[in-house]
Amino acid sequence: MPGKVSIVGAGPGPADLLTVRAAQALRAAEVVLHDDLVSAEVLSLCSSSAELINVGKRCRRHGTSQEQINALMIQHARQNRDVVRLKSGDPAVFGRLGEELDALREAEIPFAVIPGITAAAAAASAAELTLTDRRSASTLVVITPHNAGENLRPKLALDLERTTFAVYMPGPDYANTARELMEMGFDSATPCAVVSNACRTSQKVCFLTLDSLRSAPTIVAPAVLIVGWVARANKPRNLCLSANGLLNAEGRTRAATGNLAVDAYELAVKSAYPPAIDGTNVTSSPSLNL
Ligand code: SAH
Repeated sequence: MPGKVSIVGAGPGPADLLTVRAAQALRAAEVVLHDDLVSAEVLSLCSSSAELINVGKRCRRHGTSQEQINALMIQHARQNRDVVRLKSGDPAVFGRLGEELDALREAEIPFAVIPGITAAAAAASAAELTLTDRRSASTLVVITPHNAGENLRPKLALDLERTTFAVYMPGPDYANTARELMEMGFDSATPCAVVSNACRTSQKVCFLTLDSLRSAPTIVAPAVLIVGWVARANKPRNLCLSANGLLNAEGRTRAATGNLAVDAYELAVKSAYPPAIDGTNVTSSPSLNL
């Protein structure tokens, strides 16, 4: 009888955002195959005798393909070891879960899937916004511009005024992502929030419009882009502008005035629903570094 493979969602980073079941699986695991985005804090829950193998993208450059990851899961399980395949967020969201389940089923390896908090939910909590709202957003689309060979555009007719897009892997070409969203029909004044490192101490939140997103330069990955009227910036209670004019979760006071990111934030704050936000004076901002 082979060992079991648990495909576990690690959530956005903090260990206390894991499910109890995920934490139990980590403590029991003999082998943990994890992605790059899984935090050190989560990995520290593994037993000291567990073998930790990074099979993430950065390591993939050195040779761990999806086929090799599948083979590693199967090989360790056939050695009667308890295997955890640990993925950031939720395994079912842009996590290649389908391919891994197919491989396990074919090899007749018993498995369990343990869900985690996906980045869109983490980003929404970080930015204190809702993804759906019965008054204004009845549809949530989870999407990435980086799916194998496809562009962002779903072949669906949507009422974009009542739709929220949660865009995973939105960078590094934000101008292209913004342009695609506008080509799909989003107004250039549509509010959006970029949440970088959601729920981690390095979390950054920036409220913009699609128009101003086009010229926002460096945005630190990992980040999620929330697009739609739900992202208009109600002034978050415990988020303050940090010294570089962006928002942080630590409640620091606003130190930089005159920063164009501040202007973007204030424009968004002042906006009524569903307004046209005049983002024209932030499009050339050189200082929107998230
Ligand atoms: N399975 C994951 C998604 C993996 S794809 C999940 O459910 O969240 C990797 C992308 O997820 C990143 O490029 C980024 O868009 C997003 N992401 C993961 N962790 C994040 C975090 N802490 N903050 C913001 N975005 C994150």
